[in-house]
Amino acid sequence: MRAMILDAPGQPLRVADLPVPTPQPEQVLLRVHACGVCRTDLHVVDGELTQPKLPLVLGHQIIGTVEATGERALAFAVGDRVGVPWLGHTCNHCRYCLSARENLCDYAQFTGYQIDGGYAEYTVADERFCFPIPQEYSDLQAAPLLCAGLIGYRSYKMAGDAERLGFYGFGTAAHILIQLARHQGRRVFAFTRPGDIKRQEFARHLGAEWAGGSDRLPPESLDAAILFAPTGNLVPAALKAVAKGGVVVCAEIHMSDIPTFPYEILWSERVLRSVANLTRKDAEEFLALAPKIPIHTEVQAFPLTAANDAFGALRSGKINGAAVLVVNHE
Ligand SMILES: [Zn+2]
Ligand SMILES: [Zn+2]
Repeated sequence: MRAMILDAPGQPLRVADLPVPTPQPEQVLLRVHACGVCRTDLHVVDGELTQPKLPLVLGHQIIGTVEATGERALAFAVGDRVGVPWLGHTCNHCRYCLSARENLCDYAQFTGYQIDGGYAEYTVADERFCFPIPQEYSDLQAAPLLCAGLIGYRSYKMAGDAERLGFYGFGTAAHILIQLARHQGRRVFAFTRPGDIKRQEFARHLGAEWAGGSDRLPPESLDAAILFAPTGNLVPAALKAVAKGGVVVCAEIHMSDIPTFPYEILWSERVLRSVANLTRKDAEEFLALAPKIPIHTEVQAFPLTAANDAFGALRSGKINGAAVLVVNHE
C-alpha cells in the first residue's frame, strides 16, 4: 500500500510502499478514504511532541470502511464506514480510566503518533476506538469532525454555559464550534492573527458577532474564551478579555511559553485550564449532535502524496476551514 512516512522529526514526509497491515484480534482493518490534517501533525513533524513511534504514519482523523476484522472484533461488519480519532488505546485499569477520564490514561496511545495512522491506503485500529460516521456526511466533510470537532467539543464543554464566547485562532476547530455555539444562542467573538481580514470575514460569515486581531480587546468582556492557537502570548490576552468568573480554556496540545502576567488578570475567580485529548463519550455525543445542527465543514482537499503541501498551507494560514487528504476515493 502507498503511505506517507515520517522517518524523523524535521524531515518532510516521504512516499513509501508498505505491506497492508494485519488486524490483531481486537482490531479492524480499514480501507482509508480520507484523513484530516491537524496542527498536531505539525507539532509531531517539528519535534515539539517528543514521543512518536518512528518511522510513523501520521493522521488521526481517519474515515474508512472495514475491510477485515480480527477474531475478537465483533462491533463492525465488513463494509461499515467508521472514523478513528486521536485516542487510539487506553488501559482500562489506571485511576483515570476507572474514573471516566480515559483521556488522561497513564498508558494511552494515540493514533498517528504512537500508532500508525491514516496517511496511508490502509490502517488498523482497535475497534473500541472506531465510531460509526453519520450518513449525512461525505468522507471529506466527516474527517475534520474527528479531531477539530471532538477535541473542540470537549473544550467547548469546559467553557461552561458562557453567553459571550471568544475563540482565539479561527481555524478548523473554531469554524466547527461556532456553528454549535450559534445553534445554542451564544454570542461569538473571533480573534485571528492581527490583519487577517479574510479570516475575520470568514468568522463573521459563520455568525461571529465581532471579529478582530488577537492584539485587541473585544467590545465587551467575555464569559469564556477558548484558545485554538499554539501561542502562549494569547493566555494573558484572553485572561484580560474575560469578565470576573470567566474561563480560559487552552485546547492546544503544545503551546509556546506563556509570558509572566500580573495576578490581577487571574483574580476575581477567573479560571485557566487546559483540555487534553478526548474520551469515547465525547465522540459519541458530538457525532450524534453534529448532523442535528447540522454542522457543515469547509474542506480543502489534497491528494495523499501532497501531504507536505497541505502542511505548508496549514502553517501559512492559507486553509479556511480544514485540510483533508483524499486517499481511496471512489
Ligand atoms: Zn488507563
Ligand atoms: Zn488533531
